[in-house]
Amino acid sequence: MTAALALGGLGLVVALLLSIARAVLASKERGSEGAVVDAVDALLPQSQCAQCGYPGCRPYAQAVSAGERLDLCRPGGPNTVAKLQALLGREREPAAVAQTPELVARIIERQCVGCARCIEVCPVDAIAGAPNYLHAVLAEHCTGCELCVPACPVDCIELVAWTPK
Ligand code: SF4
Ligand code: SF4
Ligand code: SF4
Repeated sequence: MTAALALGGLGLVVALLLSIARAVLASKERGSEGAVVDAVDALLPQSQCAQCGYPGCRPYAQAVSAGERLDLCRPGGPNTVAKLQALLGREREPAAVAQTPELVARIIERQCVGCARCIEVCPVDAIAGAPNYLHAVLAEHCTGCELCVPACPVDCIELVAWTPK
């Protein structure tokens, strides 16, 4: 009887230790996944514009960590794709190699009032200008993300087709 009780107690202790070990392992895995998501999120523009098809940068970072394509963030453009490729070691991923914008922003000069609001929202510094002066888009840097369009109070930014030289 005493031996049976001792064996039962031992079994309980072993089961408890196994359960603790499993919990520690799961916690470590979650921590590692969280670190990857944090690193991916840190490379995204944080515009929260949802153009990637996810409701914000963090959800897209979570999806990328789970294998989603790297080239869905238009505000980030090719530079962000390259950084994500380097971070995740996915340089050979075909879908993420090229991201040539078909459209870029253009400022209608005669209407621009030089308020500089477009510069504040552009995540890739593709707009040149100073307060109270005419502003212009540097087409080679523009990713066509459209974030500047609603920011302009006089509706003088349009998207136009552009072919890199
Ligand atoms: S498109 Fe880019 S900037 Fe916009 S929410 Fe998605 S990850 Fe963030
Ligand atoms: S200029 Fe406008 S469309 Fe182009 S990257 Fe900047 S915010 Fe986006
Ligand atoms: S937001 Fe519009 S008006 Fe203001 S500087 Fe930019 S293009 Fe010009």
